[in-house]
Amino acid sequence: MSIRAGTQLLGCSRSFVNVSLGRKLSTRLRWSSSSARQWSTPLAKTIGDAISATGPISVAAYMRQCLTSPDGGYYTSLTDGKDQFGQKGDFITSPEISQIFGELLGIWLVTEWMVQGKISNGVEVIEVGPGRGTLMDDMLRTISNFKPLASSIESVYLVEASPALREAQKQLLCEDASLDEIDIGFRSTSKYSRLPITWCEDIRFVPNDLSKSPFIFAHEFFDALPIHAFQSVPPNPNEAIQTLDTPMGSLPLSKLTSQSKQPQWRELVVTPTPPPSNITISTSSTIAKPTPDFQLSLSKASTPNSLLLPTLSQRYKALLSNPGSVIEVSPESHSYVAEFARRIGGSAITSTTKPSSPSKGQPTPEPTSKSTPSGAAMILDYGPANTIPTSTLRGIRSHKPVSPFTDPGLVDISVDVDFMALTEAALAASPAIEVHGPVEQGFWLESMGIRERGEMLCRGLDKTDGQEVEEAKRRVRGAIERLIERGGDGMGRIYKALAIVPERGGKRPVGFGGDVD
Ligand code: SAH
Repeated sequence: MSIRAGTQLLGCSRSFVNVSLGRKLSTRLRWSSSSARQWSTPLAKTIGDAISATGPISVAAYMRQCLTSPDGGYYTSLTDGKDQFGQKGDFITSPEISQIFGELLGIWLVTEWMVQGKISNGVEVIEVGPGRGTLMDDMLRTISNFKPLASSIESVYLVEASPALREAQKQLLCEDASLDEIDIGFRSTSKYSRLPITWCEDIRFVPNDLSKSPFIFAHEFFDALPIHAFQSVPPNPNEAIQTLDTPMGSLPLSKLTSQSKQPQWRELVVTPTPPPSNITISTSSTIAKPTPDFQLSLSKASTPNSLLLPTLSQRYKALLSNPGSVIEVSPESHSYVAEFARRIGGSAITSTTKPSSPSKGQPTPEPTSKSTPSGAAMILDYGPANTIPTSTLRGIRSHKPVSPFTDPGLVDISVDVDFMALTEAALAASPAIEVHGPVEQGFWLESMGIRERGEMLCRGLDKTDGQEVEEAKRRVRGAIERLIERGGDGMGRIYKALAIVPERGGKRPVGFGGDVD
């Protein structure tokens, strides 16, 4: 029995800060002696130039650029061995805090595989956003102890946008095996049973064979997917004609004129902070220095997104009549979770969506019907259990909260996950799945036996001759407490688990109140 040396207690999780940016930003002005615009990063300049050319951009477009732009995105451009994770990086995640986290996800896969009749072949393990690969490493090590399951696994797929992280994952999971470029991405061979591992940039490149049983894991992935933000504005009786903001300018939208007596959703868009001058005025003490390059502003007119996205769910309707309400909507998250659901349960509907910019190969055809629904998805992330996230865009750098509009590309930005929206999108995508949760991470981990596993690890340490056994035990127990802590902003309360499984009359999965029998 071994304990990974890297078990870490220090460092902040990404959920630890909830800086509400909303309207406060627009009251903060930055001035300097130079009249030339100084951008904090090359990516800030690229975004600023794009806004000058075509007008304000959505929060979603901003997030996408900051996180995954090939020219300076946070995940896609970090080099020089700099790492986003751990004490020397920007934040810490549960798999990096304790090996037990990944081990219990491995056990969860084992239990679902048993509930589904011990599928004898065609099992796929898929992870989206695998970070350093730590979670998959802990899962595969655990699964390798369950021989019948291990031998039914045909392939592992990792969906990763970052070339540097793909390399880190390959080193951890495949060591010296070669990494070969293939039509859908890259392939190597795992140190666990020589399983093939394939890397793709988007889940839609992962082969979609409905005879397979995909077990899909997403840990702190959805919080990195772009959101649109909308604010309810009160009726404006003086407004004679509604207008629509387009890249070509404002267009009259006569059809909506009769609705000017109703509250409306307006998109919160990203605009540059006011131009430099020589005085400093700050009316908000909540935003850390340096002054951000950008700010959120309320769009002056409707946008195509504000007319469409808030109509997609009844949940947004009640908030519309409450002026000032802000909602966050993530179409990209909906599309990812719908893909999970269709792979598990199949779909009666043929979709025509394709990856926006396939860099290699052809997108996998969309799933249709599946004769025997199989597999499962497990989503672990932070966000409210059943309310709509509101003003949750946040930045984090070196374990400290910063404005998400500062140093674009050098700051990690993320949002709260809307678990109810994920549930709705999954259920709408496949008729043959059911969704369980979200339950709090603390509940899930305790139901999965985190304490018992921790004590097993500690007993294993007793047998070693190491000088620092007591310190190692303290670290194991401290890490467990941190993962399950439910007071205040504890990870056990803020993080949630959501499972998608084949339709089976509501029988709960293990960790969600159910058991294997
Ligand atoms: N699951 C890991 C890492 C979380 S960080 C952990 O918990 O430690 C988010 C991960 O998602 C990183 O690996 C990042 O590169 C990846 N990622 C972010 N946006 C992505 C996108 N749009 N497509 C694919 N991968 C993405």
